[in-house]
Amino acid sequence: MSLNEPYDPDNIFAKIVRGEMGCVKLFETDDILAFMDVFPQSKGHCLVIHKKAEATNLFDIDDSALAELIGAVRKVAGGVKAGLKPDGVRIVQFNGAPAGQTVFHLHFHIIPIYEGETLGRHGDGGPAAAETLEPVAAAIRAAL
Ligand code: 5GP
Repeated sequence: MSLNEPYDPDNIFAKIVRGEMGCVKLFETDDILAFMDVFPQSKGHCLVIHKKAEATNLFDIDDSALAELIGAVRKVAGGVKAGLKPDGVRIVQFNGAPAGQTVFHLHFHIIPIYEGETLGRHGDGGPAAAETLEPVAAAIRAAL
């Protein structure tokens, strides 16, 4: 998908927003949703999206919605930091398939980094069961 493709309302994250697909939620407002990545690259890998912006990538969102989104990214990353005590936190965002984007609804990855642990490869891991994700999500939620 090129950088200029129109927004596809049938993408996976749009289905999650509409409740047509499940997710392990961390934080939700009228505009923002944070949830666990189902193919985590590390323990606590999560995603933050704007629910209403209908943005395929960073270039499609207006400044005020982006400000709201990045504020939520920092809030959730703070929960990851306090709840999971990683050694570092990586924030990643991909635009366009050639850059590595696989879901075409703008999102930020929050990826905790633990010293000595190898990070899983982007888009190349196995799915985590909800039972595995839930206790990690609970630790993040409790720290938000
Ligand atoms: P991208 O490659 O577009 O930057 O990131 C998409 C992310 O969404 C990947 O890290 C992938 O693991 C995650 N993902 C793909 N499908 C699903 C899903 O159905 N549920 C959840 N929670 N995450 C997903």
